[in-house]
Amino acid sequence: MNISDQLAITAREIPTKTAYIFQDQETSYQELEGSVTKFASGLEQMGLQKGDHIALVTGNSPYFIIGLYGALRLGLTVIPVNPTYTAEEMGYMLENGDVKAVISMDLFLETFEKMSSSIAKVEHIIVAETDSSIPWEKRSLSGKMKSFTKVISEGSLDFISPKLDAEDIGVILYTSGTTGSPKGAMLTHRNIFSNAKDVADYLQMNNDDTVIAALPMFHVFCLTVSLNAPLMNGGTVLVMPKFSPQEVFRVTEKFQASVFAGVPTMYNYLLQGGVEHKASLQSLRLCISGGASMPVALLQQFEETFNVIISEGYGLSEASPVTSFNPLDRPRKPGSIGTNIWNVENIIVDELGEELPAGEVGELVVRGPNVMKGYYKMPEETAVALRDGWLYTGDMARMDEEGYIYIVDRKKDMILVGGYNVYPREVEEVLYRHENVTEVAVIGAPDPNLGEAVQAFVVVDDPNVTEQALYDYCTGHLAKYKLPASIQFLEELPKNTTGKILRKSLRETVQQS
Ligand code: AMP
Repeated sequence: MNISDQLAITAREIPTKTAYIFQDQETSYQELEGSVTKFASGLEQMGLQKGDHIALVTGNSPYFIIGLYGALRLGLTVIPVNPTYTAEEMGYMLENGDVKAVISMDLFLETFEKMSSSIAKVEHIIVAETDSSIPWEKRSLSGKMKSFTKVISEGSLDFISPKLDAEDIGVILYTSGTTGSPKGAMLTHRNIFSNAKDVADYLQMNNDDTVIAALPMFHVFCLTVSLNAPLMNGGTVLVMPKFSPQEVFRVTEKFQASVFAGVPTMYNYLLQGGVEHKASLQSLRLCISGGASMPVALLQQFEETFNVIISEGYGLSEASPVTSFNPLDRPRKPGSIGTNIWNVENIIVDELGEELPAGEVGELVVRGPNVMKGYYKMPEETAVALRDGWLYTGDMARMDEEGYIYIVDRKKDMILVGGYNVYPREVEEVLYRHENVTEVAVIGAPDPNLGEAVQAFVVVDDPNVTEQALYDYCTGHLAKYKLPASIQFLEELPKNTTGKILRKSLRETVQQS
């Protein structure tokens, strides 16, 4: 079974049900299925065939959904790419990923024009026209270009898809993983299908749900949780091209959305932008947080303000991505990433790979039908990440007696202060509890005496708050060696397009100063 064939089944069962809403327009399952079939057929007519690689470089839109499901229907391997990447970053993925065709939008064509050799092997660029003022036919790469709408209109509803095997690669996700340059995590049809199904079952998603897709769809969190999981169950996906608190309030109210999925920074923005919009989120039954650790203070404040629960979960690209969530039928534990979802095993191991007892901190390793086949063309990196059937996540964690897991931090983010381990998260959790702190990130800064020192970056809502006041606050909650040696005030913290805080840029700031 694969997600694209599942869509065909759902479309036969509930043809008139709304599959997605984009710019306030509703599209039924039958209409979506028709576009997907015709798009797959159009791709085939262009000469593409099962096993070819196609990059999907679009913003959140029907183009992404039709592009993904259409390409999978033909048995292509889809490589979703962040459209805001530079020509160099994107070029690396096109070249390393042996991409034969690209689906993109007129808005991003300039990036492709800036690529030199890396675009040479790309035979087709399928262009979704979103802005009539962009005359893309006159572009230097116009010989390779074809309109998205034309691919659909030339396709046929009589298209017969090739037989796909559960072990065929459906998607390759580029991720920097735990180390080094981006690597392509190869996810099979089984990986993608099983994770969407297990997540949907665990979070009790059904065809009454309308799920807001506010995270970028090229990121696996959105791809599985906000797109594949609801579509697999006959739910409705509310497509948001760009996250903004005001737009979340508007669409939730208008379409009575029931589920919102986001990274912690989004919950922070909603909270800051919205106490007076409390009523707008009334229809939500569940908020899902993942991608980065959710500060306990933020979770509690959000739940109290909006009267909706947040279930925090955890995942990584290499696991399609979800491995655990806070359950809905048992107590949730704030600060934890919950317990294993169906079919996925989680254990904590020491340096030698031996399982540790409850309460002890070690590396989180996972096993299940969602774990990738390996990194594309990188056997050595694969051998480091996958050992004896287990995926080594690179995240340090502990598990309690009831199987709830607490992420301590990423292994590589640990700070070594004069020989003592400090995990940024424990310092961040304390600073977050201060009433004037709205955002915080902690890193290790080089220190001539101690090796590393704790450096905090904070965003505050009151300009009168001083470094000394925050330091004094920390002294009541943290051992001396964990106290920040320096606290720097910023207007905002650097984040990537998914909303994750970029510790790397903060480290660069420290190195430059
Ligand atoms: P990605 O492959 O881009 O999805 O990133 C995966 C990484 O995000 C994981 O290895 C974790 O370091 C981090 N992550 C995801 N969810 C959580 C969470 N709930 N708490 C802490 N870190 C998380």
